Amino acid sequence: MPRLKIAVIGGGPGGLSAAQFIHESGNRPVVFERENRIGGKSFSFSSGDAFNEMGTCYTTRQHVIVKRWMKAHGIKLKRLGEARYDDAPVVDYVKGGAGAPLPVQAIKFLNAATRLRKRMVLEPANPAVRAEAALTVDAWLARLDLPKLDLAMHRILPAQGYGYAQEVTIGQTVQWLDFDILISGVLNDMHMPVEGWSEFWNRFSKRFDIRLDARIDHVERSEDGIGIIVAGERERFDALVSTVPMDEFAKLTTLLPAELAVLEGVAWQNYTTTLVSSKNWFKGAQVHGYSRACKDPSLRGAMLGSRREGGVMEDGASLYVTGQFSNGELTPAELREILVSDLTRLGVKAETLIYARTWKYFPQYKAEAVADGLFSAMHEVQGARRTWFSGATFSHELVSSVTARSQASVRDLVNRLG
Ligand SMILES: Cc1cc2nc3c(=O)[nH]c(=O)nc-3n(C[C@H](O)[C@H](O)[C@H](O)COP(=O)(O)OP(=O)(O)OC[C@H]3O[C@@H](n4cnc5c(N)ncnc54)[C@H](O)[C@@H]3O)c2cc1C
Repeated sequence: MPRLKIAVIGGGPGGLSAAQFIHESGNRPVVFERENRIGGKSFSFSSGDAFNEMGTCYTTRQHVIVKRWMKAHGIKLKRLGEARYDDAPVVDYVKGGAGAPLPVQAIKFLNAATRLRKRMVLEPANPAVRAEAALTVDAWLARLDLPKLDLAMHRILPAQGYGYAQEVTIGQTVQWLDFDILISGVLNDMHMPVEGWSEFWNRFSKRFDIRLDARIDHVERSEDGIGIIVAGERERFDALVSTVPMDEFAKLTTLLPAELAVLEGVAWQNYTTTLVSSKNWFKGAQVHGYSRACKDPSLRGAMLGSRREGGVMEDGASLYVTGQFSNGELTPAELREILVSDLTRLGVKAETLIYARTWKYFPQYKAEAVADGLFSAMHEVQGARRTWFSGATFSHELVSSVTARSQASVRDLVNRLG
């Protein structure tokens, strides 16, 4: 018999991976998902007999656990085609930076990033460590004299919606940017699931008790247990794993002081994907990125890049998914207008803009919050009032990071309560 009955809020990669680790530990997960589908930001959108990934796209060398799960569920991976940046290999753009050769700068970066990551764990209250973690990425790279890496960050950060080097902190960036991610980018060692991300999560979660369309009225929390109230009915649990953004969690329960610090220390951004059909856009490479939009935060909303999809329309047009990074100040109509103008500037004639989706994406840690101990608050919240946290806020906007966080949170939960 399972020992603990554990509620999981959110049926995205964070919640579903938490459910898997709870199940593996011999306990019983129950997942509450607000929407009528699971997967969260993993979303394969069907058009005709093909589908297009409007959310999660690639696995990298960091996605070890996810790739193991995909294999176990019969999901095949196909390698991403060539990726170009300003119509050249990304490495050409990066080599345009001054200073030592790229491999030397990359090694210096990785060593310094590992050192900072370790110090953030071992000395979280040290003011010097907090001050260093609160530096912006470009200020930190300038300190280390790594101009080529500064250029690399144009491709690594905003192109994927991970903030601008001039704004995002190095403390947040080193949490996810490791050797595996760098080498996956350099070698273009990235894959997409042939059957799609949505199909993967559907197969993955078949055995779990998942409550779709669950509108949670309230979450009661005490040192004795958890009560989840849905449509007036209270269900009792031994513990809770929340994987939803803290502002969503705040609507369900009263936050503790450290949880409030997390809520206030994070500024959610947006990422918009649009499915476009065109007859005269790129055919050779599969991905194109544009430095103009990636290096300049004042161009928020501009088109960062595009991926050519497999499907072809009846009129012969190819399909592309474009990406735009913004922060809630631009309306869907304005984002669409910017996209059309960027396409026109490139000489691309869009036949149709088939579907657009703006995601609540990338919980950017505020620099002042990092300096004030945001990372300590994130540690402190785990386990208080029988509540543990996973999801992008507590890891990164990458399925590999979210999965690793779920594993650590569930392990801690089981150690403390099991
Ligand atoms: C365009 C795009 C491209 C991406 N590309 C990649 C990639 O190539 N590789 C990669 O690894 N990752 C990628 N990601 C990131 C990845 O999809 C996310 O990091 C991941 O989905 C985060 O998982 P999560 O569970 O934290 O959040 P989400 O996926 O957002 O899931 C949260 C879930 O919680 C539910 N929820 C919210 N509030 C409540 C509530 N009150 N009650 C119940 N349920 C609630 C939501 O409906 C949702 O289903 C991409 C994302 C996007 C948008």
